[in-house]
This record gives sequence, structure tokens and C-alpha cells, in this order.
Amino acid sequence: MYRSYQELVQTEKYLRLNKQSQLVIEFSNHLKIIDFHIHLSDLLAGKRKDPISKGEKLAYPTLPPIEQMDLSQPYWTHSSHNHYKGISGILKFSAHGLRILNDMVDGGTFDNCFETMEANHIQKAVMLPISSAKDDRSPAALQAAARYPDRLVAFCSVHPNDPKRKGKIQKYKDMGAKGFKLKIPDMELKHDTGPLVELMHECHEARLPVLFHVGSNVQEDDPNVSKTMRRLLRCTRTEIYGDLLTQLPSDFTFVFGHSGIGEYKLVAEYLKKYPAAYAEISAQSADSIKYLIDEVGSDRLLFGTDWPALPQALTLSRVLIATEDDQTARDNILYKNAERLLHIQIEQQK
Ligand SMILES: [Zn+2]
Repeated sequence: MYRSYQELVQTEKYLRLNKQSQLVIEFSNHLKIIDFHIHLSDLLAGKRKDPISKGEKLAYPTLPPIEQMDLSQPYWTHSSHNHYKGISGILKFSAHGLRILNDMVDGGTFDNCFETMEANHIQKAVMLPISSAKDDRSPAALQAAARYPDRLVAFCSVHPNDPKRKGKIQKYKDMGAKGFKLKIPDMELKHDTGPLVELMHECHEARLPVLFHVGSNVQEDDPNVSKTMRRLLRCTRTEIYGDLLTQLPSDFTFVFGHSGIGEYKLVAEYLKKYPAAYAEISAQSADSIKYLIDEVGSDRLLFGTDWPALPQALTLSRVLIATEDDQTARDNILYKNAERLLHIQIEQQK
């Protein structure tokens, strides 16, 4: 825990503040890096802005307040800081969600994206659209990748309740999509997982990796969180997707986004059970990344950041700390595993 960002960068290795007071990586050698999890200002269903426009400076409201920041925990804060009770808790939560969305839309532009990639030695980034039943954001991601093929890779996203969903996966693959992304809570799912499993089968047939936002930072029995709120916060918990995988072929490439946040140990168990599953590590701590390396090896871990929700430098500094004595693991996590999954090769920055 810190009093200021100045104190944080003095205490924490591999981080510094740039002229705009944004966190960036401090590393003297060049690195090869693919960021497997970013968004842009027009990839989220609902609200959007043209990424070609000038971006606002990102405030990263997803981050905990600096005095509650604890980089040893997933999501970099202790989950006991969650206080969500009654109606006011729900309102606070929705207002916070809206602030996060606005910040991502206002700041998730091409210029901001390439600036942070450059500052953090990141050559390529995988754009993850998140579609709703009515708003398919895949075409926007495909367009951006066509515009900047050297820097951006597109995933597609098709909602299971999209009335035109059939056949879309193969179409998007033909248009250049390298994978599939969804963020879907169990409230939307529980009545019928059929269409979702069908989509996953289509991805398997098209040989596309599938990444879901997975995980929760709230314990089942957290006394600071009301029952309703807990349902809301645990609506993307790891078991939901771990269980779904029993219905899919053993060579289905499923990526646990965020490594399940606070549930990374459970994700490690699923990785042992499903040999074709991967974990993307955005918002994990150096300790949890080390835990994953020790439990499942480094061949199925993917570096991701969730930019513009979170600064790229934070997860990157966690990986550098976790792999200080293990260059093989560092290379695997930062780019080799992603190169293999995406069928691409990246060049080191000069
Ligand atoms: Zn994300």
C-alpha cells in the first residue's frame, strides 16, 4: 500500500512514471511482447467512439485507490475492500461500472493505444470486442486490424442470443479473425447454455481459440457483500466455464481470461484437467503468476493487460518479477505461446 504513485514506483521494480504521470515499464533491454487482451473505444457493446479520434487521457478507474493498492493480490487490492451492501451498494457498483466504461471509450483510441504499446515494448495486441445480442462489435475489430495489421490482431465476438449468429464465426474467420471473445454473466446464460456451446463448437471447427472474461474477486461467504450483490459479482465465476468445457472436445482451445482473477488456483486445476486450455494473466500478481507457472508450467500462460481498463505496465511488471530467474517462462508468457495460438511471428523493436 502506498501514499502516492511516486512512492509506488520508488518501491516497485520495473515501473516508472512518464511525463504524463502514467505508469510505464522501466527495462533497459528490448523485449518481445504480444498483449493478448486489449479493447478499443468502439469494441464494447452499447457506447462507443471512433478510435481514430483524439483520445482523452486515461484515468483507469478500474484500479483501486492508490492507498488501497496491494500489488501482491489479484486485481491489486485486497477483496476485503469491497463493501457492497443494500441498494446503495448496487448503485455505487453501477456508477463505478459506468465510470470505467466512459474512461475506456474516451481513452481507448488508436493514438493512446500505440503510445502505451510503444512505451511498454509491446509489438502486437489482440483486440477483444464484446458483443451483445443486438450489437455485434466484431466488424469494428476486423476493420481496425485491417488498418493496422502490424500492430493489431482481431478477435470476433458473437452473442449466443444474436438472432443472426449462425455461420458468423466462419465468416469472421475468413475475414481475418484469429479468435473469439465473450463476456457473458450467468444471469444471461442459466436458462439455456445450448446456443453458447453451439458457438464454441463452431469455434472449434473453425480452429479459433476462445477467450472468456472469467472470474470473480468475491468469496461465496464475504460478509461485506450483500446476497444480491454477490450474485452480481460472482456472475462470471470460474466454475461456470470450467463446467461447460466438459461438453467440448479435449483439443478445444479455451482461454481463461484474467486467470479467474481471485480464482486463479481453480483455473490452475482446470488447466490440469483440460490439456488444451490456457490462462491469460491480466491483473494477476507476481505471486499468483509464479503459482500458475509452478502448477501448470509456462506453456499455456498468456500475457494480457485489459488495456484501456488497466495500464499495460502493471501486469507486465508482475510478469518480469515472476520470471526474473526463468527466461524460458518469460518468453513463453510474453510472446511465444501467443505466437503459436495466433499463427503469427513478431519482430523485436529496434
Ligand atoms: Zn477485458
